[in-house]
Amino acid sequence: MKYANVDFDTYFRNYPDANGYFGKYGGSFIPPELQAAMDEITEAYMTICKSSKFINELRRIRKEFQGRPTPVSHLERLSASLGNVQLYAKREDLNHTGAHKLNHCMGEALLAKYMGKKKVIAETGAGQHGVALATAAAYFGLDCDIYMGAVDIKKQAPNVARMKILGARVVEVTDGLQTLKEAVDAAFAAYSREYKEAIYCIGSVVGPHPFPMMVRDFQSVVGIEARSQYLEMTGELPDAVVACVGGGSNAMGMFAGFLNDPVDIYGIEPLGRGPALGDHAASLSYGSEGIMHGFNSIMLKDENGDPAPVYSVASGLDYPSSGPEHAFLHDIGRVKYDVVSDEETIDAFFKLSRLEGIIPAIESAHAVAFAMKLAQQMKRGAILINLSGRGDKDMDYVIEKYGIPD
Ligand SMILES: *Cc1c(COP(=O)(O)O)cnc(C)c1O
Repeated sequence: MKYANVDFDTYFRNYPDANGYFGKYGGSFIPPELQAAMDEITEAYMTICKSSKFINELRRIRKEFQGRPTPVSHLERLSASLGNVQLYAKREDLNHTGAHKLNHCMGEALLAKYMGKKKVIAETGAGQHGVALATAAAYFGLDCDIYMGAVDIKKQAPNVARMKILGARVVEVTDGLQTLKEAVDAAFAAYSREYKEAIYCIGSVVGPHPFPMMVRDFQSVVGIEARSQYLEMTGELPDAVVACVGGGSNAMGMFAGFLNDPVDIYGIEPLGRGPALGDHAASLSYGSEGIMHGFNSIMLKDENGDPAPVYSVASGLDYPSSGPEHAFLHDIGRVKYDVVSDEETIDAFFKLSRLEGIIPAIESAHAVAFAMKLAQQMKRGAILINLSGRGDKDMDYVIEKYGIPD
């Protein structure tokens, strides 16, 4: 299938190019000492990802440890409450650890093992990536250093406890605002000191090449599974596919299965409290081209051109940019990006819980909220939602902030 001169039959062979570009987005904008380490990872990944031994080991792990394939569920009662359109969910909430993040963490940690590394390093904000990586490190017997801002450590006590139980070292970062940005800087500084022994594991389809490509490849299992499961269940393809977009890994994984199909694809960003800068984290919808964290993409900037402060009710979507492949798919129009507010998200959170018995992550509830609106516009057809994670982590917060509706 061709779309705006991009041939999707050969898309994965050509995007990204050898330098990590999706059109003008992507690349690698990092200090030379880190570039040598990135080149080593690229070289290793490009070789190892073609090895049948690696592929088969990852397949076995996904089945025996992660519990894949995760099912696709028909959301019958939610659909009936909206009209005639049928909603389906790919259940990444049932992946081990309760979200899609383990898909790329197991891949990255397995790569570390093949490269002979002893340690994995990462930063974490809300702690979800840290927990997934600590899980992978425990499985493979790797040391694991997770850099986390002091403010986040206080806010995310349960995830800090999980990481420690899993044997990771949580390194407190006390510079600046003591949140995610400082944690990224500290983790990169540690990596440039330790790269002979360690590998950096990025938590989404962001950062310098090869991470946007590698994380997409590891997450594509979601879309590939969902496409064949949906075909088996219904004998056809869905009319639309929907996923929430923070950095964009669960969305890219899902979309990878459907880019070459006549299916409408929607990436949903958090509108938060509204469209004013600082009240949302909808970078593709409201941002412009810029470089941060080592890659060129579309980002939200302040008056100095630096990453702007962002807000979302979902801590996993609270990021001032998105992966370069999303910026590319946005510009060519293959994926449509849209927004839902906090309020619509919380409504969807309770609807899915009460009509289907599935408590979604607040991140995933953004995708559900948009699918509910789309279902009412479409009148007929079917929508497949990527339910990126479960909502246990969000329950206390939702009840405290919004109360329990009647
Ligand atoms: C981290 C997270 C996200 C956002 O990350 P992406 O890279 O955009 O997928 C979405 N859903 C859940 C459940 C998460 O934990």
